[in-house]
Amino acid sequence: MGRVYNFSAGPSMLPEAVLEKAAKQMMDYEGSGMSVMEMSHRSADYEAIIGGAEALLRELMQIPDNYKVMFLQGGASSQFAMIPLNLMRTGKADYVITGQWSKKAAQEAEKYGTVNRVASSADKTFSYIPKLDPSTFDKEADYFHITFNNTIYGTRYTSLPDTGNVPIVADISSNILSQPIDVSKFGMLYAGAQKNMGPAGVTVVIIREDLLGFTKEGTPTMFNYQIHVDNGSMYNTPPTYGIYICKLVLEWLKELGGIEKMHEINLKKAKILYDYLDESKMFRGTVVKEDRSLMNVPFVTDSDELNAKFIKEAKAAGFVNLKGHRTVGGMRASIYNAMPVEGVEKLVAFMKEFEKNN
Ligand SMILES: *Cc1c(COP(=O)(O)O)cnc(C)c1O
Repeated sequence: MGRVYNFSAGPSMLPEAVLEKAAKQMMDYEGSGMSVMEMSHRSADYEAIIGGAEALLRELMQIPDNYKVMFLQGGASSQFAMIPLNLMRTGKADYVITGQWSKKAAQEAEKYGTVNRVASSADKTFSYIPKLDPSTFDKEADYFHITFNNTIYGTRYTSLPDTGNVPIVADISSNILSQPIDVSKFGMLYAGAQKNMGPAGVTVVIIREDLLGFTKEGTPTMFNYQIHVDNGSMYNTPPTYGIYICKLVLEWLKELGGIEKMHEINLKKAKILYDYLDESKMFRGTVVKEDRSLMNVPFVTDSDELNAKFIKEAKAAGFVNLKGHRTVGGMRASIYNAMPVEGVEKLVAFMKEFEKNN
């Protein structure tokens, strides 16, 4: 069997060119006589890999000099604890609840301080981004947390809340590198790599320098941002191979034309799918139009039986991982950076055919 169109929400597709390059370099990385997996993280070869990955990320995302970049482990979920442990000074933070990930982030933060849930879209199964009223924000909060793109429910912010001097902390696990993001508008950004940047096991944290140095006493060493910053993400062994793959993905993205170009392609892909969902008499999107994600597209038919039939037949035709999240049901197509336009076009053609026949 050849390669399939993989619509998984994460871990997800990687660009074929990246996998091919990794395969070519598997046995002997650039004349080193070994795989990147076998390298000391303190070697010159590896220093160039992690340094190169950071430089590319800085260049592509235009990360200002007063921000630090860390490559950590533990997934975005570890950040749910690291954020309050490192950023809570007075012990208060604002959270917007737009799905499971923000819910979990808020629950974790509550172990360390007071969480003010400024708004939630739980009333309608997180199918929209709540309108935010700045008068409900805590002006003394240490930070304001949002989940920029909601992987499970398929919503995303199209504008940022005006939080004044309170730094915005955003989970960008599922939209990093997919659209231009003005880093200077945030105190901190973080992302697990396995959606849009590389394999599982790498977590990227981008943090404004002035937010460092306030870590709670008793915080485990490995959960202290300052430690990782001071050691260039090498306090302990970093996820060496994962970071190498991230570097290849970043090189691929740069060659393709960078984030602006990627965004254009992503808009095109999303439009192909949403336009069809809007005209179809069988399938429909589950999210309010103005908050639709470019990355995760949940959709349903009116029948669970038909949903199951569709998922099964799609899989047989080479469109895999279209089953919706277990809490939502129906279908979800994740169309991250690595999904080619052609994959979405072919999926829509398949859906049209399915609609005609059922
Ligand atoms: C996948 C995901 C997470 C969880 O990431 P882990 O790396 O599994 O901890 C958190 N937030 C968002 C937005 C995600 O998409």
